[in-house]
Order: sequence, then C-alpha cells, then structure tokens
Amino acid sequence: MSLFEEIGGMPPIEVFELNKLYADDPSPLKVSLGVGAYRTDEGKPWVLPVVKQAERQIVEDPSMNFEYLPVLGLEAFTNAAASMLLGGDSPAIKEKRFLAVQAISGTGALRIAADFLAQVVPNITRIAYISSPTWENHRLLCLKAGFNEVREYRYWDAQKRGLDLNGMLEDLRAAPERAVVIFHACAHNPTGVDPTQEQWRKIVEVVKERRLFPILDSAYQGFASGDLDADAWAVRYFAEQGMEFVCAQSFAKNFGIYNQRAGNLTLVANTANNLANLKSQLTILVRGNYSNPPAHGARIVSTVLNNPQLDAQWREHIKTMSGRLKAMRALLREKVEGLKTPGSWKHITEQIGMFCYTGLTPKQCQFLMEQHHIYLLKSGRINICGITTKNVDHVANAIHQAVT
Ligand code: PLP
Repeated sequence: MSLFEEIGGMPPIEVFELNKLYADDPSPLKVSLGVGAYRTDEGKPWVLPVVKQAERQIVEDPSMNFEYLPVLGLEAFTNAAASMLLGGDSPAIKEKRFLAVQAISGTGALRIAADFLAQVVPNITRIAYISSPTWENHRLLCLKAGFNEVREYRYWDAQKRGLDLNGMLEDLRAAPERAVVIFHACAHNPTGVDPTQEQWRKIVEVVKERRLFPILDSAYQGFASGDLDADAWAVRYFAEQGMEFVCAQSFAKNFGIYNQRAGNLTLVANTANNLANLKSQLTILVRGNYSNPPAHGARIVSTVLNNPQLDAQWREHIKTMSGRLKAMRALLREKVEGLKTPGSWKHITEQIGMFCYTGLTPKQCQFLMEQHHIYLLKSGRINICGITTKNVDHVANAIHQAVT
C-alpha cells in the first residue's frame, strides 16, 4: 500500500490544456486565442530587439558571473522597476517609504504579497477579495498563502458589457475592515475593462473608508494605452492618496520575456520608520521559499531601464505591440460587423489591452474549437494578439456562424 495511492487528481489548468490542444491540432486553419502572450502578424512570438541587445551586453560584460543574487534580488532592477511604476518623481521614492523585492515574475510577486499579508502583517483580516471575473490564479495563490477565504466583488456587467461600478462599490463597502483586495492596475484580465479615473477615485474612497488593504496587480503596464505612465495612473493615485499598498509587477508581457520570470513587488508605506524590519521579514519569507531569485531576466530589464537609449527603444516596442492590438481589434470588429453578425460588437474596440471578453457562450466557444480550430477560453476571453491580417476572416466567419 503506497502512501500516495489515495490522492485524487486535480482539474487541468484550462489555458495550458488549450495550448496543448492547439499544438496537437494538425489543421492549417488553427488559431490560438488562448494564452496571454504577444504574437506578431505572422502569429509568431516576438523577441524584442532591445532585449536581444541587452542580452548581448550582458553576455559580453567581462564582470558577468553566475553568483547568487541577494535574497531580495538585484537592486539596480528593483529600484528601476519601482521607479517605472511609481514615477521618477514619486514622493514615496524620494522619502524612501518603499521597499522593492525581486520576484518570480508577476505570480511570484503576488504570492510574496499574499504570504506577507497572511502570515506577517498583524490585524489583517484573512479574507481576500478578487474581481468577478479575474485571472484565475488570484484565488489559488491567496488560498495557498493562507487566506481563510476568497470572496468575489462584482466587476463585470454582462448586460452592458462594462464595469459594474455600483456592484463593485457595494461589495467593497460590505467587506470586513482590513480585508485584502486585489485590483488590476490596468488592462484588466479577462475583461479588458478598466475603471475610469473618476471611478478609481470612488473606489479608493471606499478602500479608505473600509480600511481595506490593496494588492495592485500590474501585469500589463504599457499594454493598455501604449504609454507606461498613463497605465500607471491608478497605482500612482493610490500612492498620492497616502494609501499603504503593495503592487506586483510582471515584465513577462511588456518585455516579452515570459519564461525568464522577471517580476517585482513594491511595498509603499506611509512612513519609513519600520522598513528595516519589514525588509528582514520579507527576506526570511523569500529565503524559506526559493532562497534567491534568478538573474537573467532581471539583468535584461535593468540593462534596458537604466540606459536612456535602450529605454527609449523599448518604449517604442511597447507602442508597436499595443498599436498592433488596437489595429487587430478594429479589424476584427469591422469584419464581424461587415458580416452583419447579430448583436453589438463595439465592445471589441472599447475594451483595452491584450484581451477581449467577447460575450460568446461556452457552447459557442466549443463550436469555434471543434468546428473551426479556433482555441479560446470557455469564458469567451480571446487574446487579441492571436488575430492576424491572415486569419481575421476565418475568425470573423467562425464567430458569425457560432452566433447565428
Ligand atoms: N496578473 C495577471 C492579471 C495576469 O494576467 C498574469 C499573467 O497572465 C499575471 C498576473 C502573472 O504573470 P507572470 O507570472 O507570467 O508574470
């Protein structure tokens, strides 16, 4: 009798399963609209030229070695990441009221945040609020970190295909004091709908009123508008309002270095007084988890962000990527509307970032997959990057058939 014999299986992770189905499909018509990764108009991954150049510099640097990084990571990277997030002139940075910790990409940063809040910070209510819907890993990582309960706050209004602000505010108002709330900093996944500045002001008011603790999740800075500063508006607003918060940053998408796992967690406090203690707590947390982070991705990001010329080149790449997303949104909408597909399709261009929450039902999604080799999540979320000038007619026709 094995100790392991009675362990049941867990359900597969939808997006990875979808990738496999796509890879195994021999059809030349197949289209991958599942995983959130950038693709060129040829449907290929894009290694950013500035990343290649940074890699060359790193490899050719005679002082480069493979020694361990410090537990909290490469400081040239974490400082540059915090500054990209909070802005170069951020009072939190000037007054040294922040901590930045290198993490295993955005997920790792969220997990450090959740571990820290659930295990270290006293007086936190171990109830985490996540948006309905959200990136599905938010729930899992909060539970694994030790939150007792994960609750959803209303976010998506299916009828008007937009933000359910009143529902959101009502749910947050009903939250217990010092509960933790995860907000998407920009380019909400999966809905592609962000609060306006006016709406963020109302949200922050409730967060203050209820003394909630925000975890901001910034996985797509640059992808919403093409402008890094504009996409950091909400995060900077929380800071400006004197809120204490943590923010997880991923460089997977905006640098196209998905498997390098380069991320950062920034903590903003309203005083610098106790940061040394917080730093030591975070050090022990990371030490007991993976000891210290990998270097290569962080070196790439830090080489670019700390060099004005490379930084400018990178900002152009971001414009290229976000520009292609906008162009594909417009094209898909034009094609679907051109076919006179029933329903309104203006949400395709109204939503922002990498994803479009199409409104297709699970059955219609199944139909797209089985009849047209188009792979998408059953929530109806599609990755706009998967659309190209070559496959857009096929996708639009398939959507038309699914709906009619
Ligand atoms: N947060 C959101 C909303 C995401 O969509 C993702 C990735 O898809 C992440 C965080 C984390 O990504 P990674 O761990 O690859 O940086």
